[in-house]
Amino acid sequence: VKAQGQHGYRFFTASMNERAQARRRIEAALRQALPQHELSLHYQPKVDAQSGRVVGAEALLRWHANGRELYKPDQFIPVAEDSGLILPIGAWVLRQACKQAQLWRLRGHSIPVSVNVSPLQFQHADFYSWLDDVLNETGLDADLLELELTERMVMSGGDATTGLLRRIKQRGVRLSLDDFGTGYCSLSYLKHFPIDALKIDRVFVHDLISDRDTATITSAIIAMARSLNKTVIAEGVETREQGAFLRHAGCTQLQGFLFGAPMPAAEFQQRLIEPA
Ligand code: C2E
Ligand code: CA
Ligand code: CA
Ligand code: CA
Repeated sequence: VKAQGQHGYRFFTASMNERAQARRRIEAALRQALPQHELSLHYQPKVDAQSGRVVGAEALLRWHANGRELYKPDQFIPVAEDSGLILPIGAWVLRQACKQAQLWRLRGHSIPVSVNVSPLQFQHADFYSWLDDVLNETGLDADLLELELTERMVMSGGDATTGLLRRIKQRGVRLSLDDFGTGYCSLSYLKHFPIDALKIDRVFVHDLISDRDTATITSAIIAMARSLNKTVIAEGVETREQGAFLRHAGCTQLQGFLFGAPMPAAEFQQRLIEPA
């Protein structure tokens, strides 16, 4: 948080020109990142709220060079989106995550892996065929893949979007709505979209214990989502109190530092799939 705070301060005080230069620097470096193998995926556990068992993993992009992290996703993903670099990077992420899930599958562990999809990728005319190709090439069962979309992506596209969502569903891939509650998705809309799960944004989880209104809203979201038969995942769970509240409110799955930070695939496998 401190590091981000520093950067936030730097960006805030920087002139427009300096900020544009910083983005160009990131963009230039990012162009080399894929060919130079500087990108990798970390995996964060999702646990069943009742049993605490690991029931999934979210793939999260990391950028390292010479053993240290160059930039955080919140810094370079926006640049990747503006520059279009998110297309090759996103395709790589999807393939890499499917390969990993299939590797675990072949070792006898069926761990569904979720992948974040950016709006630019999702809007691309070839998105469905990329997805289909990756599943065919890796041999991964579609139900071991979940795509995390944001409210805006699902809401803004009209009939074409709904059609695409249905095709993806028919292929067997699961869909979840990320950062739920921060956009403008009303719960009543949820029943129109073939969405399996929604992820309650961590801003709600963060304030649950200290703010009564947040607690009430969160409970209501969980109850309504459950009544629509959606899986409900809370992200950013850091304390036992938050975990207990969310479990009692009816959350299906929990994700956050309390259960494990994002970690390299080898560590995820060692610590969480094959505990000693
Ligand atoms: P997100 O999809 O909402 O991912 C959750 C973020 O919360 C991750 O940050 C994760 O490390 C962090 N997190 C997990 N548990 C906790 C917790 O208990 N407390 C707190 N404070 N944070 C927690 P990360 O990895 O830095 O990623 C930030 C964002 O960058 C993601 O937000 C996502 O929007 C984007 N992103 C990351 N990887 C990809 C990717 O492969 N493709 C795309 N399109 N976007 C990605
Ligand atoms: Ca996500
Ligand atoms: Ca999220
Ligand atoms: Ca987020």
